[in-house]
Amino acid sequence: MILDFLGTHQRTHTCGELRAADAGKTVTLMGWVNRRRDHGNLIFLDLRDRYGITQIVLDKEISPEGHPKAEHVRPEYVVAVIGRVRLRGADAINPKMPTGEIEIAATELLVLNDSKVPPFSPAEPAISNEELRLKYRYLDLRRPEMAHNIEIRHKIALAVREYLNAQGFYEIETPFLTGSTPEGARDYLVPSRVNPGTFYALPQSPQLFKQILMISGLDKYFQIVRCFRDEDLRADRQPEFTQIDLEMSFPQQDTVFAVVEGFLKSAFEVAGEAIDTPFPRMTYDEAIRLYGSDKPDQRLPPITDVRDAFTADEIAALRIEGGLPILAIVLPGQTEMSNTQRKAFVEELNTAAGPDLAFLDIRRLEKAAQFSALAQRIDAAAARACGLPRVEPENRLIVFSPRQGVTPPARDHLWLFKKAGQLRLDLARRFENEHHAFEKKGSAGDYKFLWVTDFPFFEWDEESKTWTFAHHPFTSPHEDDLKAGRMESDPEAVRALAYDIVLNGMELGSGSIRIHRQDIQSQIFRALGISDEEAKKRFGFFLEALQYGTPPHGGIALGLDRIIMILAGASSLREVIAFPKTAKAIDLMVDAPSTVRDEQLKELHIRPVIRS
Ligand code: ASP
Repeated sequence: MILDFLGTHQRTHTCGELRAADAGKTVTLMGWVNRRRDHGNLIFLDLRDRYGITQIVLDKEISPEGHPKAEHVRPEYVVAVIGRVRLRGADAINPKMPTGEIEIAATELLVLNDSKVPPFSPAEPAISNEELRLKYRYLDLRRPEMAHNIEIRHKIALAVREYLNAQGFYEIETPFLTGSTPEGARDYLVPSRVNPGTFYALPQSPQLFKQILMISGLDKYFQIVRCFRDEDLRADRQPEFTQIDLEMSFPQQDTVFAVVEGFLKSAFEVAGEAIDTPFPRMTYDEAIRLYGSDKPDQRLPPITDVRDAFTADEIAALRIEGGLPILAIVLPGQTEMSNTQRKAFVEELNTAAGPDLAFLDIRRLEKAAQFSALAQRIDAAAARACGLPRVEPENRLIVFSPRQGVTPPARDHLWLFKKAGQLRLDLARRFENEHHAFEKKGSAGDYKFLWVTDFPFFEWDEESKTWTFAHHPFTSPHEDDLKAGRMESDPEAVRALAYDIVLNGMELGSGSIRIHRQDIQSQIFRALGISDEEAKKRFGFFLEALQYGTPPHGGIALGLDRIIMILAGASSLREVIAFPKTAKAIDLMVDAPSTVRDEQLKELHIRPVIRS
């Protein structure tokens, strides 16, 4: 097909713009052919661009030159149309399309470019082959669903920027070619050509730079920034992802919380969602005791310790451990199970939990004369804690306890709560069609935000049998714990000034108040088993900087991709990133990573030895 030149044509409107009030105007539209319908003398083209779709009619009578061209036009050809806006006949109005009341009677058609037959049509709302979508991402991004996600992403990032700008934050870029930042993942390394044998690391976060910016007196920093972490990819992780990263001088935790609440409110607003601020808070200890998790999903009732409902005799008769909590989980809105189903369910829970735990069948207890009063007391205690009038029969009550003689693991006195937390989530997922707690109701209650504070400073690492940092090694311990000398006397009890922001059971971000004194930073490195020498080698520049008048400072980083995924109602991070990687960290469109030419390696002073 012979292609037309653009000449001096300019588009006057987008494909999403024209309405009934524009009838009679002469317009020029340009875009892609979404679909084409040939009715002989009339050929209809749906013309698509980022803004929408407009119906074009090529009538042999009105456009004797355009009509034969339209016969050869195919989907994804790029065309320019000049014509008049006219109202559609009543029976041809499409109320589902914003432009559905009009069409363009074309007088001229320019075919600006042709297209190979695409491997899938961007006109289809759902394409099941994700690999194909990623390989031909440019076609995938033509789909209105994807264009919408990209638009939301842009608007949210802009709202965050505007909010932070109004609060006096500067957006400051920090380097990508840099040294290692410890965030618990492996580094992506970049060899240096001009310095043989040396490597840059891509930043796992701008952590040290943002702290240095505070030492530099810049007071309030933020950056919407790419971070790189070479991790074994779990579902829904990306090797490069975007953070809303910020740091402030002289803040209390509350100061940081207020800023985050402010920009999240703006971000949700642009997506048409109202949220209530300030967000509730809970310490790590409370979160574990109430939800068995450091990222509680508060859309379902908490875990309850119903130990007090039991007498010593009942505990002995049931052969459960009296010295430890007896925990109850309530799942609201269940349909009742038959006797057989219930028995099988309790048995299944018992088998899955292993020999240490015993699940009680409340219904059976209810029926046994010896335990019926107990069953009622458990029921009442669990109901009270969940703010429910009564647990049975429309709610499912799961009660379990360690069996007689079971002792908790030495380094984890909260183990039982954590087990309950996992079980609570597994059951919540399994019965989600019965309790409906995960469905959006269209109110502020859809978004259960929470600050979790006072994380333990140290985490026990079973592998190395040492204490390691729970957040990162620049996080400040509680001043009280330092003053009380707990660093040495009772490391397990030391609390970090670290906090997480959680939404519906998902961690959206973490941050902390930092160590601003060099003496404390050295003490922490020592406590973490990082020798002075190693600390100097890895973070010498930073330890040096700390000695030049470092103000108290703190900050946080939130995952932007996840926030957008939630607001776009998308099912995966890949839906809201223009060019994402697969679960194997591959860019299918570019075909990266790939091998490189021998000369390139030579220049980099690298000789690859592939070990299997
Ligand atoms: N650098 C931390 C992270 O990426 C966030 C922070 O502490 O501000 O998780």
